[in-house]
Amino acid sequence: MENRAALVAPHFDRELIARYDVNAPRYTSYPTALHFRDDFSETDLFDCIRASNDDPIPRDLSTYIHVPFCLSPCFYCGCARIITHDSRKADTYLTRLYREIEQVAARFDRDRRLAQLHFGGGTPNFLDISQMLELIESLGRHFSFSRDAGREFGIELDPRFCDGEYARQVAEAGINRVSIGVQDFDPAVQQAVTRIQSVEET
Ligand code: SF4
Repeated sequence: MENRAALVAPHFDRELIARYDVNAPRYTSYPTALHFRDDFSETDLFDCIRASNDDPIPRDLSTYIHVPFCLSPCFYCGCARIITHDSRKADTYLTRLYREIEQVAARFDRDRRLAQLHFGGGTPNFLDISQMLELIESLGRHFSFSRDAGREFGIELDPRFCDGEYARQVAEAGINRVSIGVQDFDPAVQQAVTRIQSVEET
């Protein structure tokens, strides 16, 4: 009986719904675009990092790595991405990313553990498996990865361009969360948004 009670449909609160029926900032980046400021310089950033290093208890770090390439466009998407089949674009991007990882990581004290790592996009699996493993390895060299069982290392995978072997290898490299985008399984909707992705594939 208790379980049945838990399944009762939630109360439809029209007033509550109306209160939040407003335009909200896009949340495809964090902080959201509204919080970007021109008057926050590189020096300000480094000052913040230095100040945070001074905390008596070393604070864990979180990092987001954006892979801004996709193999095909989904019409509903507002993410920062480039549609291309040219894998050389990833090489150029990775060269610069490695430089940034090296420069930024050096600013953090080594006793600060990287406890949250997320690869998003775009399509992170636009990178082939050797590029992805090298990227994870590079991050591990420059940051101190947390060894805590509760650490969250996640990746977005597009199942249309990824097989089980890719997932297995990133898991072996330490990734313990995967998110897979699904908009709709209705073929008409998939056609309309140009995201054709079968249930089996997903
Ligand atoms: S795969 Fe993802 S990021 Fe790329 S266009 Fe589609 S929704 Fe956007």
